[in-house]
Amino acid sequence: MKIVYHPRYTEVYASDPAASPGRIEPILKELEGKYDFVEPQAASEDDLRRVHAANHIESIQRDKHLYELACLAAGGAIKAAQIAIDGESSFGLIRPPGHHASPDHCWGFCYFNNIAVALVKLQKENLIENALILDFDLHFGDGSHNIFESTKVRYFHPEANTREKFLDQIAKKFDDEENYSMLAISAGFDRHIEDWGGLLTTDDYRTIGRLSKEAAEKNCQGRRFAVLEGGYNHSVLGRNVRAFVEGLA
Ligand SMILES: [Zn+2]
Repeated sequence: MKIVYHPRYTEVYASDPAASPGRIEPILKELEGKYDFVEPQAASEDDLRRVHAANHIESIQRDKHLYELACLAAGGAIKAAQIAIDGESSFGLIRPPGHHASPDHCWGFCYFNNIAVALVKLQKENLIENALILDFDLHFGDGSHNIFESTKVRYFHPEANTREKFLDQIAKKFDDEENYSMLAISAGFDRHIEDWGGLLTTDDYRTIGRLSKEAAEKNCQGRRFAVLEGGYNHSVLGRNVRAFVEGLA
């Protein structure tokens, strides 16, 4: 298990909850010393253009600081995906998040669709044919859905009102799906019992990580990576990420 991280991810680039000061540090504290850290490069404009329209990219470029960090986040997802191709699992401790970024617009604290930029790059390089995305964030990743609708990449966002049903849905989906060459995970932690969604326990994230690992080992030679999406209660976010990473490793 490698953690993809860049020191610039602690920089505050906006006034939204995903960009808030002190959000990344507690996660770092939980993971440092336990896993190897790898520093990514920023995604190139070519990488972005495979997913996003030119006018969308230009609109983000108007804020130079934001653009730099959004490119670094997309680059972090690319790095995490490349590590998975090389046979090791990985977690991108990145921000800004990406799953609300569509080809030509974005909202919900997202700018570029990190996971999509990574998967489409791997497809272009003939490293994967298709992928399954599990997005367990509280919010539906409309950007990922829009980008991959009617493509070979399948997008799954579980929804349930009890934790048992939520975990069952994920397990059932993993039982049903086959023939994918990468498992990519949009890891949002805002469904935690002490976060906005008020549903999942810390241990449930470990279970989701373990289910993901088992599914990847059964279907795609263990190729799996995850990237950070939401999660806003700084006092529990670190331990939730750690639990998930321990399950996924
Ligand atoms: Zn969310």
